[in-house]
Amino acid sequence: MKNSTPKFIFITGGVVSSLGKGLASASLASLFISRGFKVRLRKLDPYLNVDPGTMSPYQHGECFVTDDGAETDLDLGHYERFTGVNSRKSDNVTTGKIYSQVLKKERRGDYLGATIQVIPHVTDAIKKFIISDISDEDFMFCEIGGTVGDIESLPFIEAIRQLRNELGKENTCFVHVTLLPFINAAKELKTKPTQHSVKELQGMGIQPDILLCRTEMNIPEDQKKKIAQFCNVKEQAVIEAIDVNSIYEVPIAYNEAGFDKEILDYFSLYDEKSPDLSAWKKIISIQRSSEGEVNIGIVGKYTSIIDSYKSLIEAITHGGIANKTKINLVWIDSENIDNVSNCFKDVHGIIVPGGFGERGSDGKILAINYARSNKIPFLGICLGMQLAVIEFARNVMNYKEASSTEFGTSKFPIISLLTEWQTKKGKEKRDILSEYGGTMRLGSYECHLKQNSKIFDIYKNDKIHERHRHRYEVNLDLCDKFDESGMNFAGMSPDNILPETLELTDHPWFIAVQFHPELKSRPFQPHPLFVSFIKASLNQSRLL
Ligand code: GLN
Repeated sequence: MKNSTPKFIFITGGVVSSLGKGLASASLASLFISRGFKVRLRKLDPYLNVDPGTMSPYQHGECFVTDDGAETDLDLGHYERFTGVNSRKSDNVTTGKIYSQVLKKERRGDYLGATIQVIPHVTDAIKKFIISDISDEDFMFCEIGGTVGDIESLPFIEAIRQLRNELGKENTCFVHVTLLPFINAAKELKTKPTQHSVKELQGMGIQPDILLCRTEMNIPEDQKKKIAQFCNVKEQAVIEAIDVNSIYEVPIAYNEAGFDKEILDYFSLYDEKSPDLSAWKKIISIQRSSEGEVNIGIVGKYTSIIDSYKSLIEAITHGGIANKTKINLVWIDSENIDNVSNCFKDVHGIIVPGGFGERGSDGKILAINYARSNKIPFLGICLGMQLAVIEFARNVMNYKEASSTEFGTSKFPIISLLTEWQTKKGKEKRDILSEYGGTMRLGSYECHLKQNSKIFDIYKNDKIHERHRHRYEVNLDLCDKFDESGMNFAGMSPDNILPETLELTDHPWFIAVQFHPELKSRPFQPHPLFVSFIKASLNQSRLL
């Protein structure tokens, strides 16, 4: 379909939070990809932070980083994984960012003395965001974060109401995601919360076109009829979103429930052709019939909030699918490791993921030491790589004071803050006031891999691009004797200054990377590092 204006699908949520709107949007968009359309997904977040970069993973889960260096909501990770379409800076906005733009313009006098108001100035800025940076996409999926009725989301709801008027019904579709709770005493799915939520939307001038109803069980026909009647939608537009075992079953379940058909019907675009869902079917069948099983230990500080490690968990799952292996995740709180061998006795592979701050770092170093000494497959990511360097410097090279300046002053700061580096575009400088992430190195950077290395064999390429999100770097100026001691920095920045990957020469699988490979792993293109790591862990499980 080639279309001058894309079709906009606005996705709102009602009744409760955590309905999985992000996953729902991603799954729906994936069905349109399977039908050969070009799609993009966007997330509009109602909170006042300018971006999630400064938010605690305990509160907001993982911060997802795009190729172009935006720190975004974790839902963008679902979008990329389900559609294979890379997100950009222009795909996530927050109330905080919208207000900063409006206020910046106000200070510059751009509004020529007008009184600045939510309508039209804030809503105009939101509308501009929604329709900006679009090329030849057929469908734009815009998810509004939060739950309908929240004070913060009002300007977003108002903006999409206005857009319906401006772009026309033929170019905009409102999907509302709700919950049908099952009340055990009555043995019934309840429709009232959905009715109330739709009323709330209607009060703001929005009549949903399609309702996606989350439910634990099939919705009886009479309940569907009732929802349609009370909520003023067609009966076929009440779509059942029944709980499934794996997130990768969602696209197929939606297709079977007629979700994509209903949207295409709405835009008068439906044809009898079915989408090609064979790739999803293959994944599900592998997940259901996996042959091996491995236990992967993840050592971190945020282990009680698994949303903090969303992309990591997905990337490990993809590695499992590629090896037809079931993965059991073993969460190890790095602040609570008393007896290391006890903690890791049933673990076949250890991951120390990214993180910030000194708290918990001793436990992570113990875990790395255990993996190194006992030849357990080990993957270190970002902070995990920095701590692997510290562990090695302290225990193999005997620099007992080795540490990171992130943890305070050190006599041997082998990990140091770097505020200037060379890129293709020239020298990049960052200070605490820099707009995007202060002193952070953010987004995709090239890395060169030495040909006679384990990591080269894994990537089968000497030039790779991976996403970064960190301030500190391995400081080889301080000491360049790692190679002689058995730690090989096989991946370096193109100017050969910044170590990007390391590996141990006398270990079956000990690799750590300064970037975040988990951000680029997809179910259909599992990341080679995770595929290889799970394979090594599988070998380890056979040794025990
Ligand atoms: N805290 C470390 C740094 O800023 C590592 C960050 C991370 O693991 N993403 O360099």
